[in-house]
Amino acid sequence: MVSKNQLQLVGENCPGYVNNNNASGINSSITDESVVSCETCIHWDKGKCNIDLFDKVVSDLDQT
Ligand code: SF4
Repeated sequence: MVSKNQLQLVGENCPGYVNNNNASGINSSITDESVVSCETCIHWDKGKCNIDLFDKVVSDLDQT
């Protein structure tokens, strides 16, 4: 299975990432919702990327 860490790594490196939380707040504290991760992306749907970028980003990351 995919780890939370990996979801964040992919989110940070994904060209398609769009945060699904548009609520703005100057003093908002750091919560899970402010973390860049697939889990906070509008394309993340029930544990899966609905535009199929996840596997592409993972394979790009693997080329080290
Ligand atoms: S859900 Fe898809 S589009 Fe969103 S960050 Fe993850 S891989 Fe990228």
